Amino acid sequence: LLQLFIPLNFLGMVYRQIKYSLADMDLIFKLMEQQPEIQDRPDAPALQLERGEVRFQHVGFSYTPEREILRDVDFTIRPGEKVAVVGHSGAGKSTLSRLLFRFYDVTRGAVLVDGQDVRTVTQESLRRVIGVVPQDTVLFNDTIYYNLAYGRPEASRSEIEAAAGMAHIRDFIESLPNGYQTLVGERGLKLSGGEKQRIAIARAILKHPRILVFDEATSSLDTQTEQAILETMREVAEDHTTLVIAHRLSTVVDADQILVMEQGRIIERGSHRQLLEQAGVYREMWQLQQEERNMQVEQTI
Ligand code: ATP
Repeated sequence: LLQLFIPLNFLGMVYRQIKYSLADMDLIFKLMEQQPEIQDRPDAPALQLERGEVRFQHVGFSYTPEREILRDVDFTIRPGEKVAVVGHSGAGKSTLSRLLFRFYDVTRGAVLVDGQDVRTVTQESLRRVIGVVPQDTVLFNDTIYYNLAYGRPEASRSEIEAAAGMAHIRDFIESLPNGYQTLVGERGLKLSGGEKQRIAIARAILKHPRILVFDEATSSLDTQTEQAILETMREVAEDHTTLVIAHRLSTVVDADQILVMEQGRIIERGSHRQLLEQAGVYREMWQLQQEERNMQVEQTI
């Protein structure tokens, strides 16, 4: 009976999450990956959103007891600021966004939004104020319109068009023979990585969250698309509290603060300029990436 109950209980949780309209299918997939242990405390209040300050307070975290993933991670993203996290693969960057969403609970310290520990408020109220542009956007086998409106099902047609415009995908959609009614996904039109990411950006715009998490795609987009997406993100992120999980340093140059992570610790922090002056890991990463870029340019000439 227990074997039957656990999956049913888990499905119940997924269903509740869908019902509470998490504005992104990726989140639901992520939820399916994780243990269904995270529960609201009885009578947990809703998050009282003020200006959207995010604080990681001496956070320690392990997915499994034998391996520590984050150690004493301490930083604040002030309302409206953009903080970017860089570091090698596996350093723990994406784990930060999972903890902010409370897909997992911290092992030490706390994650606070406007001074409220995320463990003490309802998950639904927490996730409602955070928009995510995931690395790899999963689209429904449905129309572009449906996929866009998923960000906020009650949005009007003109709001959807405006969001598509801001995400620089509107002209593309309107050039298709069936426009917003074009079917996408497995059985429909295949969109490129950049186009899918713009759909995700439009969804996030429609949701209009106070806090935005941008998990940059690891798969390389061509330089022109990458620049266009970066530009869009800059526009959207303006006056939002933004956490960027960056895989390319070109994304982080304008961040208010850059955190360099190595094996679960923040080893350097500061603005791009400050970090270059420090002559540490960030500067090495920057020089390496510049050299790679130059080599690519030489190869294409
Ligand atoms: P990348 O740049 O490749 O996306 P990252 O810095 O974002 O990497 P994380 O995804 O935060 O890294 O992962 C940090 C570490 O945690 C990795 O070693 C990873 O193997 C481990 N990890 C991630 N998810 C889980 C999980 N669900 N269970 C156990 N270990 C995990």
